Parts: sequence; C-alpha cells; structure tokens
Amino acid sequence: MIDKQEIDLLIVGAGPVGCTIAERAAQVKGWKSLIIDKREHIAGNCHDCINSHGQLVHKYGPHYFRTSYEDVFRYLSKFTSWIPGNYIVKTSVKNKLYPIPINLSTLEKYFDQELDEDTALKLLHSLRVHKENPKNSEEFILSRLGKELYEDFYLGYTLKQWDIHPKDLDPSVCGRVPIRLNRDESYVNATHQVMPKDGFTKMFSRMIESKNIFFKGNTNFEDLKKTIIPKIATVYTGPVDEYFNYCLGKLPWRSLQFEWKTYKEKLVQPCVQINYPNDHKYTRSVEIKHVTKQNINTSTVSYEYPQSVGDPYYPVPQPTSTELYLKYKQLVEETSHKDKVYFVGRLAEYTYINTDEAIKRGLDAFQKIANSNGID
Ligand code: UDP
Repeated sequence: MIDKQEIDLLIVGAGPVGCTIAERAAQVKGWKSLIIDKREHIAGNCHDCINSHGQLVHKYGPHYFRTSYEDVFRYLSKFTSWIPGNYIVKTSVKNKLYPIPINLSTLEKYFDQELDEDTALKLLHSLRVHKENPKNSEEFILSRLGKELYEDFYLGYTLKQWDIHPKDLDPSVCGRVPIRLNRDESYVNATHQVMPKDGFTKMFSRMIESKNIFFKGNTNFEDLKKTIIPKIATVYTGPVDEYFNYCLGKLPWRSLQFEWKTYKEKLVQPCVQINYPNDHKYTRSVEIKHVTKQNINTSTVSYEYPQSVGDPYYPVPQPTSTELYLKYKQLVEETSHKDKVYFVGRLAEYTYINTDEAIKRGLDAFQKIANSNGID
C-alpha cells in the first residue's frame, strides 16, 4: 500500500472520471494517485461483470458507449479494442413493437400509411402543437410530434422514470432521444457506437494498471479526509451535496433497481432493449447479449425499476434542483480554491452526461490540475 505522505492525488470515486485522471497523472506526470470508492469494485456505474450463468452483464444498467469526440475515442482505444455497438431499441405500445427513436418506420407502422421524408414532415407538421420556445419536456415533444405520439411513447415512460411530469422536466430530458425522418434505427447519434471488447471494467482496469496508481474499495471519503492530505489535489467525483454534508439541503437523485432473469434460450428479445412506456412497473428490459454476442446457450435479461432511494444514478433536470445545485456550486468554487479540490463528473457537477463526456471532463480536469501545479 502507498505511504500516506506520498500521495499526489486523492481521487474519490473509481468511475470513468477517476480512472482517467489517475491514468493521465501517472502517465504524463508520474504522480501517485490513491483512488478510493465506496463500492468494492472500479468502473463506477459502467461496471460490468460475469454473472453466475457466465453472462457478461452491466450491473448498473446498460452503457451504450458512443462518442463523436475523436480525442476521447483515440484515448480509450489505447486500453481496449472494440466491438460494434448494435444499439437497437424497440418500444412496446399497445402490444406492438415500434422502432425508437421514432423514425420513418415508426410513423408508418403507427399511422398505417407509407411515408417518405416529405410526407412524414407534412404529417408531423399537421400534428405538432406549436410552441415558440419549448420550456419543458412536454412542450418539447408536443412541438415536434404532437399529442398522440407524446402520450403513447413519452408520457408514461417519463412518469415512471422520474416520477415527475414531463412538464416539470427540462426539455433536454426527452430531447436526449433523437427524432428521425429516415430509417436509421440506432438508439443514439454519434460517429463511434461501440462497446469495449472485453467489457468496461476490463478497459478501466487496464487504465489504472500502474505502479503509481493504488485502488482501495469499500472506503468512505469521510473516513479518510482528515488523515490523507494529498500533495497536489483531491479529485472528488461523488455527489456534490454529500461532500458538503447536505448543508443546503438534499439534491434529488434518481436511482434504479434491477430484476435479473436468465432464460434457457440463446436470445429472448428481438433487440438489446425494449421500452415499456405504458405497461409494467419497469421502464425497460435489456438483453445485453445482443451487443456482447457471447456464444452461450442461456441469456440474461435485466428489468429496470426506477426509484428515489438508493445509489444516485441520475441528477433530476428540473428548475428547483438546478437552483439548489447552483447554490452548491458557489460552495464548490470557494472550496476548490481553498482546499484544492476538483469536482468532476455526473455526480459532482450534477449533470446528466454520458460516459464519453465524463471521460472528456476527466481529460480536461487533468489538464487543469497539471497546469496549476506545473512542478515538472
Ligand atoms: N424517453 C421516453 N420514452 C422512451 C425513451 C425515453 O419518454 O421510449 C424519455 C424519458 O424521459 C427518458 C429520457 O427520454 O428518461 C431519456 O432517455 P434515455 O434512453 O436517453 O435515458 P437513459 O438511457 O439515460 O436512462
């Protein structure tokens, strides 16, 4: 184990941000990092592992890696080779499966008519509820797709996922899912849509394979912060309100619970994910084997139940929580200077970002730390 006096960076959280900063610090500067995590394992919510049936599963929900940042893709490619993303999702509406994101084929099937880009555009134009500047997720979808599609494809899913009405959520929430007038069926828009060949955990473990990086799981920051004073800085990637002992009140976080079922079939779903906007208590079922392509005779499917208690997965993008976060941000600014703490990532910046964006923020934060401590 590393000597306490020798720690250059204390990194709280072994997720994408923590691993990226530790890797850069070791590689570029030769700095020694101690990464701690409350959980026993690395990779944060990207953690994947082999279950008792030999299936590689995403323990905290599916991570469909995608990026249009060439620098992020190049950087991660040093630690993994890739397999194709194959991120095809369908949504179950009135017992029929439709492509989601909504595309030409979805519209044709739903309205039972042949369409091309022009006729689909005209159709959507006739359905749209005009809103000059959509102020929330309901207005955003109504202004693009109209009432019927909004109610069948978005409303129920959003209520289940957030327990908040779409009219109280930022437009960017429902806006995450593209709307297309072509037949592209991929769930996401990005230049690279890929999955690490041996899994996320393996990729992150290769990143932190260095004599200058130490990982300690099952460890709370609270228990260490008085005894470990890093020579250069602390990188905090946990929930921002927790860092400040909830002194301004608790930020809302959305969590998930998973039910896992293993079937004695090679595959049980037609694609990796099926969304259930209007049926069941779960939002989606995920059979990650469609992407991993494991050659195995059984298949594991996860069913996702959103909940308000449990580990934080999602910040809640609504005006009241943004307001509270901005108050915490003032404390962050004071603390960053005073105690040399960098707050980085989804939980520390209370921001609904994807894995590639977290890596990007990790790379940028490392640069910032390196620049302000130029002691080569
Ligand atoms: N959404 C929806 N219907 C769907 C899929 C998504 O209403 O079939 C909305 C819902 O509010 C969800 C948001 O769009 O929380 C973002 O969806 P995404 O699949 O990107 O969520 P994530 O994968 O981050 O959980």
